[in-house]
Amino acid sequence: MTVLAVSNEALNRQFEYITEVQRLLKDRYGEEAPKAFTHTYGCQGNVADGERIDGLLEQMGYEFTKDPSEADLILFNTCAVREHAEERVYGNVGRLKKFKETNPGLIIALCGCMVQQEHVAKRLKSNFPYVDLVFGTHVQYKVPELLYRCLSSGERVFDLTADDNDIAEGLATRRNHPFKAFLPISYGCNNFCTFCVVPHVRGRERSRTYEDIMTDARALVADGYKEIMLLGQNVNSFGNDFGEEELFPKLLRDINDLPGDFLIRFMTSHPKDCSRALLDAMADCEKVERHLHLPVQSGNSEVLHRMNRHYDREKYLETIHYAREVMPDLSITSDIIVGFPGETHEQFLDTISLVREVGYSALYTFLYSPRVGTPGAKMPNPVTPSEKQQWFEELQFAQEQVASARSAETLGKTYRVLVESRNKAGRLCGRNSGNTMIEFDGPDELIGNFVHVTITEPLTWILKGELTERV
Ligand code: SAH
Ligand code: SF4
Repeated sequence: MTVLAVSNEALNRQFEYITEVQRLLKDRYGEEAPKAFTHTYGCQGNVADGERIDGLLEQMGYEFTKDPSEADLILFNTCAVREHAEERVYGNVGRLKKFKETNPGLIIALCGCMVQQEHVAKRLKSNFPYVDLVFGTHVQYKVPELLYRCLSSGERVFDLTADDNDIAEGLATRRNHPFKAFLPISYGCNNFCTFCVVPHVRGRERSRTYEDIMTDARALVADGYKEIMLLGQNVNSFGNDFGEEELFPKLLRDINDLPGDFLIRFMTSHPKDCSRALLDAMADCEKVERHLHLPVQSGNSEVLHRMNRHYDREKYLETIHYAREVMPDLSITSDIIVGFPGETHEQFLDTISLVREVGYSALYTFLYSPRVGTPGAKMPNPVTPSEKQQWFEELQFAQEQVASARSAETLGKTYRVLVESRNKAGRLCGRNSGNTMIEFDGPDELIGNFVHVTITEPLTWILKGELTERV
C-alpha cells in the first residue's frame, strides 16, 4: 500500500515557516493581528480545502474579516468546473485592484482548481499585476512557505507544482460550521469524463489511510459534531488505489459503529462504483442518511459512452432499482449536463424520461461548458446556445413536476431534522434524512439539535412543518 503523503521533513519545514510568518507579521502589524478575507468557490471538496488553508492562516496569526476593504490578505480559493465559475473569479479579482491602491501592503492570493491551469496562471501573471500569490491544488499545505516568500521578498510568487504526493496530515482546520463537518477521504480523480477538468487539475485519485480517517471521525464525534460529510470526487472508489475493493462500505460501517448521536452523509458517488455492497451498508447503518447523490449526467447510453462514464442507462437504472429495493424511503439526487457536444434533441429526451423514471428529489442541472485540455472541448458541438437553453428549461420543467409530486407525498409525515439555522423568513430550518430542506417555528436553542417535524405544507423545493413529539 502506497500512501501519497507529504514527508514528515517537508511538513516540519512548514511548521518552521509558520513561526517565521508569525514573526514577519508581528514586525509589520505590531500587536494588532492582521486581517484575512477568504472566499471559496465551488464544491464541498474545495470548501474543505479552504477550511484547512484558513486553519494555517489562523496559526500564522491572521484574524478573519467579512469585509475585504479592511483585509491585509485576500484569498480566493477558485473552481474550474465551468466557464461561468472562472468568469466570476476574474470579475471579482478585477474589483480587488482598488483595495490594493488604498492599501499597498495588501496581499492578494488565488489558489484552487482554476489557477492550477497553466493558461489561467499566465493570464493572471500578465493581466493582473496586483495579484501577489498564486498556488495550485497540490501545494496547499505549503501556504506558510509561500506566504513567507511573498512577505519577505515583496515579489510575486507562483507555484503550480503538480505532485500527487500531497496528502498532508495533522494540519489545523478552521471549520466554517459549529456542528457539521467535512471529512475528506480521498483526493483527485481517475475517471477522465470527457467533459471534466477535475482530473487535470486535481491529479490522480489518492486515498487517505483508513486509520487517519477513523482518527478524524472519532475526534469529530468527540468534539460534538452532529453531521459528518465524507468527501471525495469519487467517494465510493475510496481505497481502490490501495488495491482494496469495497473499502468504502466498510468505512461507512465502522464510522456508523462509533458511539454518539450523529449522522453520516457522503459525496460524490460515481454510478459505476455504486455497488450493492455500498447500498447494503447504507441500508444497514442507522446513522447513514437516506440520501444518495448519484450524478447520471445523461439518460442516453450513447451520450454516456462519449462522456466516458463507464455505465449505460440500463446499468444506472438497475442500481437505482436495487437501492430502492433495500431502502424504499431513499431520496436520490443527481447532476445532469445539457448540450454535451453532439447530443441530439432525441438523446436529450432520454434524459427527460430518465428523470421521470427515477423520480429525483432534486437535480443540479448544467449547460455544457467546454474546458481547456478535455476531449469534449475538441468534439463538434453544433447545437446553438439558444437551443440548449430551451432544452435546459424543458429539463427544469420536468424536474419541477417530479419534485412537486414527490414533495406532495410528504404531507403529514414526520421527519427527524438536524436544526441548522434561522432562515431569511425568520423560521428554523434543517434537512431531513433525504436532504430536503424543512422550515418550522421554534426557539434558537434548538439550533444544533435533532428535532422531529411534521410536514403541514409541502412546497416544491422546501417543506414547511411544525415541531412535534417523537413518533
Ligand atoms: N466528481 C463529481 C462531480 C464533479 S463536478 C462527480 O463525478 O459526480 C460536479 C458536476 O459538474 C458534475 O457532476 C457535472 O454535472 C458538472 N460538470 C463538470 N464538468 C462540466 C462541464 N464541463 N460543463 C458543464 N457541467 C460540468
Ligand atoms: Fe469529473 Fe468524472 Fe472525475 Fe467526477 S468522476 S470529477 S465528473 S472526471
